Amino acid sequence: MKKTLNFAVLSGDGIGPEVMDVALNILKRTGISYGFEIEFKCSDVGGIAINSHGKALPETTLEDCRQRDAILFGSVGGPEWESLPPNEQPERAALLPLRKLFRLYANIRPGCLFPELTGLSPVKTEIIPNGLDVVCIRELTGGIYFGCPKETTELDDGDIKSVDTMVYHKSEIERIAEVARITASNRAKKVCSVDKANVLETSILWRNTVSDYFKKNAPDINLNHMYVDNAAMQLVRNPSQFDVILTENMFGDILSDELAVICGSLGMLSSASLGTTKNSLDHPFGLFEPAGGTAPDIAGKDLANPCAQILSAALMLRYSFGQERAAKAIENAVKQTIADGFRTGDIADGGHSIGTKEMGREIAERII
Ligand code: NAD
Repeated sequence: MKKTLNFAVLSGDGIGPEVMDVALNILKRTGISYGFEIEFKCSDVGGIAINSHGKALPETTLEDCRQRDAILFGSVGGPEWESLPPNEQPERAALLPLRKLFRLYANIRPGCLFPELTGLSPVKTEIIPNGLDVVCIRELTGGIYFGCPKETTELDDGDIKSVDTMVYHKSEIERIAEVARITASNRAKKVCSVDKANVLETSILWRNTVSDYFKKNAPDINLNHMYVDNAAMQLVRNPSQFDVILTENMFGDILSDELAVICGSLGMLSSASLGTTKNSLDHPFGLFEPAGGTAPDIAGKDLANPCAQILSAALMLRYSFGQERAAKAIENAVKQTIADGFRTGDIADGGHSIGTKEMGREIAERII
């Protein structure tokens, strides 16, 4: 009997529904070759949910997510909702609560630049002649963004003092190290852990815990450590030296954006956020989404690049459903489509381009 993969589909606004349609077709097509069926429920989120239910993350949508093993997310927001108060805006009122409710502690951002697209990168082609394939794994629920105390106080002398607190527990570090292990074991078996262990207590714990974890659980993986200031520099100097980058919340926030810009177009970049709920740690619950937004400038015109959404679906197969071969088949199909010269407008560099749907059809034909 075929395995059924059950997930929630939250397409959202702008280009979300267009690229989601293409990604769902690719998943169906991949299931035929790799022996699974997909079962999904589409629910409103973001601006469209505000219009139809009065809030960006309706309880019905949340319930649909709770009942499934993963969320395939599009993107939310747009000019229509920009005048709402900040905490009612689609991104803030939908995505942040989802991250919190499903305790999405691991953010995975592949930085993939195909050799044919190196001209799109701000990094010189001589530095990355063969493109780039790096994954940044960022701890998402700990560190300085969440530690307490976090406050601003006025002092007796009239001065003002603000405090943020960076906190990490060994168990949180082991949990994210496990995600790096799973990722690296399907790649080049190479992890660079980034910290600031020359200055920060949390980084000393981070470095010791990561070292012990890999020594004990994955001695075959080549682990090295790097200070964050050096890592930021090395990413532009020689990004190909990295394969899997493992780092804490704030450093990952900065480095993953640096990696994204090196990769050229938002239309190619996927991301995954994994949670602690539901499945086993080997196949955790997750939210999978493109790195870009709703692209209102091109929405509804069949101009969006569907690759980011398709590659997000591949991440869902890999992490939440343990379908590594199927995930690779999708990634290879995207790679082959680009190699065969097909481009949407964002990656055409002024040359011939095709629409969202046609790009999807070309990718589907290359699933083997
Ligand atoms: P954006 O990422 O939507 O667009 C920036 C530029 O990248 C635009 O020129 C757009 O056309 C292009 N682009 C993005 N994705 C593309 C794709 N798949 N194919 C081709 N081109 C693509 O960022 P923005 O314009 O700053 O934001 C627009 C809206 O999206 C805002 O309301 C913002 O709040 C929202 N947003 C949502 C998310 C999310 O849901 N996770 C993330 C970022 C922005």
